[in-house]
Amino acid sequence: MTKKVLVVGEVRQGELRNVSFEAIAAAKQISDGGEVVGLLLGNVSDSLANSMIQYGADRVIIAKHTNLDSYTSDAYSQAIFQVLQEEEPDGLIVGHTSIGKDISPRIAAKLNSGLVSDAISLEVIGEQVIFTRPIYSGKAFEKKMVTDGLIMATIRPNNIQAFQKDETRSGEVTTLNVDIKDLRSIVKDVVRKATNGVDLSEAKIIVAGGRGVKSKDGFKPLEELANLLGGAVGASRGACDAHYCDYSLQIGQTGKVVTPDLYIACGISGAIQHIAGMSNAKVIVAINKDPEANIFSIADYGIVGDLFEVVPLLIEEFKSV
Ligand code: FAD
Repeated sequence: MTKKVLVVGEVRQGELRNVSFEAIAAAKQISDGGEVVGLLLGNVSDSLANSMIQYGADRVIIAKHTNLDSYTSDAYSQAIFQVLQEEEPDGLIVGHTSIGKDISPRIAAKLNSGLVSDAISLEVIGEQVIFTRPIYSGKAFEKKMVTDGLIMATIRPNNIQAFQKDETRSGEVTTLNVDIKDLRSIVKDVVRKATNGVDLSEAKIIVAGGRGVKSKDGFKPLEELANLLGGAVGASRGACDAHYCDYSLQIGQTGKVVTPDLYIACGISGAIQHIAGMSNAKVIVAINKDPEANIFSIADYGIVGDLFEVVPLLIEEFKSV
């Protein structure tokens, strides 16, 4: 039976995040030929709504209210709840981002519905939608389905293949003025930290440093390599705790979970809590001077050596191609 599936799109600094397009692809599979409805919240342009359509949504709703222009869990959950009541979809797919992780359990609790969080793939067997998600810090995978109510899931960025953009696709974009009240918090202003522009959780290439990088300055060659490859810089908690870099770069169990195509770990020992955040990277390269370091047990390519010698060699090599 065909289904109607709602996808919450996420906008960051004026752009839709890639995970929103990946969520559309997941929703399309679940809908089984039914309808995929995109949902954007706040002061977003029609062109963002149209790009959801070009990536596979059939139509898009823009929920408007001044209190939706910046994220608060209170305002977003009220708006999404109203759209769910109006549309009565069979499914709801959200990216497994900071916002998705915060909002989806609230919605599930409000609806008394199940939730599969952090799915990395899904299959549709008859009427059932079965999601696969990593457990035990990525050491095992479980298959899970929602047996009752809304089929609700968050999907991990960089795991489900988005469709190619099709500029010939068109669909209806409607605006819905939602009613938001009794807010416990209102965002007055957002001050962003300067970044190099590549979002760590969606980066295709990550050059990560650990305590072996030894200082803030030690991160400079890693930044140069990441820039050269069009990637982002990440870090272990060891490096963050030592104040070599900001905690926003931390990857792992208590940091960001990433799934890049290429992960270059420099001076990282490979503690289980770090591996939990990056073991699903498609290709892992480890540079460590200790041949016994645990990171080599999950690396596709290992370089036993001093990162301060190896990274400059890599930079030189990549510059020459
Ligand atoms: P170390 O373990 O000190 O490793 C440094 C490595 O650098 C060594 O292998 C060494 O051989 C190598 N090295 C040194 N000099 C060089 C050189 N010149 N060239 C090449 N290699 C060199 N950690 C995370 O990363 N992310 C998390 O989210 C996280 N969450 C945690 C949650 C909990 C509840 C707990 C208890 C811990 C958590 N940790 C996390 C910490 C984790 O257990 C490790 O302590 C941490 O990952 C170690 O960081 P590291 O690999 O950079 O440092």
